[in-house]
Amino acid sequence: MAYDDGNIFAKILRGEIPCQKLYEDEFVLAFPDIRPQAPIHVLVVPKGKYVSIADFGAKASPEEITGFWRAVSHVARQLGVEESGYRLICNAGPDSHQEVPHFHAHILGGRALGHLLA
Ligand code: C5P
Repeated sequence: MAYDDGNIFAKILRGEIPCQKLYEDEFVLAFPDIRPQAPIHVLVVPKGKYVSIADFGAKASPEEITGFWRAVSHVARQLGVEESGYRLICNAGPDSHQEVPHFHAHILGGRALGHLLA
């Protein structure tokens, strides 16, 4: 799938739609999900134009990939869930119900989450 510059996260990254910035560096922007599924539900979005994790893994530079995952763990620490624990979710494609075609990670925490594989 080709990257669509009109997707909502592209607009947020360009500053066309506001968001509550929780963290930003050269590689990522992190902000709360507008439909939180847990007391803490934050999205970490790479600044590069990648549709999915497959696209990200294939096309991003080693610096971008390292910067992205470092930022994810930094944001989790900043949110105060490093000790209590949290879940990372990266949806990919139709079966996962990926809604926004710009690669991102969800950080979910702030309560005991159910078993994922039950
Ligand atoms: O992984 P997926 O693409 O399904 O997740 C997209 C997420 O982006 C949803 O959880 C949705 O609530 C969130 N979203 C948002 N702000 C928007 C549009 C969607 O936080 N303006």
